[in-house]
Amino acid sequence: MKWESELRLRQEITKAGRRLWQDGLVAHTDGNISVRLDGDWVLITPSGVNKGALKPYQILKVHLHNGEVDGNGKPSVETPLHLAIYRIRPDVNAVVHAHPPYATAFAAAGVALTEPVFPEMIVRFGEIPLVPYATPGTDRLAELVAEALQDHDAALLQNHGAITVGRTLEEACGLMEALEWTAKGLWLAKALGNAIQLTPSEIARLFAMRSNPVR
Ligand SMILES: [Zn+2]
Repeated sequence: MKWESELRLRQEITKAGRRLWQDGLVAHTDGNISVRLDGDWVLITPSGVNKGALKPYQILKVHLHNGEVDGNGKPSVETPLHLAIYRIRPDVNAVVHAHPPYATAFAAAGVALTEPVFPEMIVRFGEIPLVPYATPGTDRLAELVAEALQDHDAALLQNHGAITVGRTLEEACGLMEALEWTAKGLWLAKALGNAIQLTPSEIARLFAMRSNPVR
């Protein structure tokens, strides 16, 4: 039944929130998570709630096209950003926004994660672009992120954090974890004085291994 799957998704979102908070990818009330429901509705985390202590009933329902809110409380300030992604990516069913420390440091330095150093990173992401700065919560940020995610599954948000999408919430969370490991690995390799880039032929081979080249 429909309400059963909605309840299951609400529980999945609370679990994902706990995971992001426990892994140190969000602090205090930062970050937001959403999942697409049937019939043009999206479940989204509320504004001002610690993701480690989120309860299923606190999650709100927002209409994908008219922004109508179902539930008590205020939906995440980044709701426009989540909705913009669902509108342009029918294959996406979950969106995660977090502030992972290493990835956010790259974002603050204005450096996209595009260096071809880690094979898994290329197979998983292709590359992770940097979205130019716009004020959090604005339609301008939503526009810029939707543009970047048209052909990517992850992006850094300049001076702010990171965003990942997935066919499932598990996938979107996994990509956020992988994005942070990429940033951390690159940071540490550079601290050792060198991050060896893969050769062009190896990069081409890895790109060919991608299961879905659009993503
Ligand atoms: Zn944020």
